[in-house]
Amino acid sequence: METDSITIDDLYGISPVKSDLRRELPESDVRILTSGGLKIPVHSSVLASISPVFESIIDRPRKHQGSEKVIPILGVPRIAVVSFVRFLYSSRCAEEHLEKYGIHLLALSHVYLVPHLKQICSKHLAQRLTTDNVVDVLQFARLCDAPDLYLKCMKLVSNHFKAVESTEGWKFLQDHDPWLELEILQFIDEAETRRKRTRRHREAQSLYLQLSEAMECLEHICTEGCTSVGPYDVEPERKKGPCSKYATCYAIQLSIKHFATCQKRVNGGCLRCKRMWQLLRLHSSICEQSDSCRVPLCRQFKLRMLQEKRRDDSRWKLLVKKVVSAKTISSLSLSKRRREEEEE
Ligand SMILES: [Zn+2]
Ligand SMILES: [Zn+2]
Ligand SMILES: [Zn+2]
Repeated sequence: METDSITIDDLYGISPVKSDLRRELPESDVRILTSGGLKIPVHSSVLASISPVFESIIDRPRKHQGSEKVIPILGVPRIAVVSFVRFLYSSRCAEEHLEKYGIHLLALSHVYLVPHLKQICSKHLAQRLTTDNVVDVLQFARLCDAPDLYLKCMKLVSNHFKAVESTEGWKFLQDHDPWLELEILQFIDEAETRRKRTRRHREAQSLYLQLSEAMECLEHICTEGCTSVGPYDVEPERKKGPCSKYATCYAIQLSIKHFATCQKRVNGGCLRCKRMWQLLRLHSSICEQSDSCRVPLCRQFKLRMLQEKRRDDSRWKLLVKKVVSAKTISSLSLSKRRREEEEE
């Protein structure tokens, strides 16, 4: 196929078995001129039916009536053009050609509006991205408007920037396409922000979950009592084993004991007491029982809020809301897990 004497059967990949197809085709009426002077005989009807760009080229009036129409496709390796023409006839692309001429075929499919080939090339190139070729492919993806491939390239550059930075492709880009360089740096910056935002969100979510668990334990200690702390009218059962959330529960029991006996107290600036105070206030904000609640200071906090008609500040309200929703989410996912276990 490297010579100029390409037969029509070679070109279209028509095997002797498919020679019926060959007979059905009329004589070629157009030639495609490649770099190196190769002229490929093709059929205007086939080209026009697949590519609207070829269609308009073919419909254009000729300068010299009667002369054979020649469509030049220069600037890409001629084997890439041969492979492209083959695709127009067979809707197939040889793996070795994709391997060698993937970016050229992508460009051809873009210029001549052949979306199916464009998809094949994008997918193929995306699967073979490396830190060495990613900058070149990225440039083609942008030029050829291949958004999936473009995004995949950007992600690879962003995740392996140190390695990409030392490639020839990157150095060339810095010298010749500062806009794309800027675009890449912006993408990396935004990706970093996205990552930080997700991490912050996850951390916050786990804090709300911890607070919601602390609320559960607080209620449980003040109503049923646990290993060492309980309501005054409930006999502390020494033999009672640790509850299901004992790590949190135990810490809160210690805090309650401390809170009851601390000399500095909240006003004295004891940080531990202040934290306990906030847990009790948080409970009161969430608690829906009125008089029957046994958590210390629950009613007092509620009364104070009523008497002072003081609006809770918005950050406190937001905290309460987040803790409640964290509790809802965790109980929903718990019951979902339980359901799944039952189904198994
Ligand atoms: Zn407990
Ligand atoms: Zn204290
Ligand atoms: Zn309460």
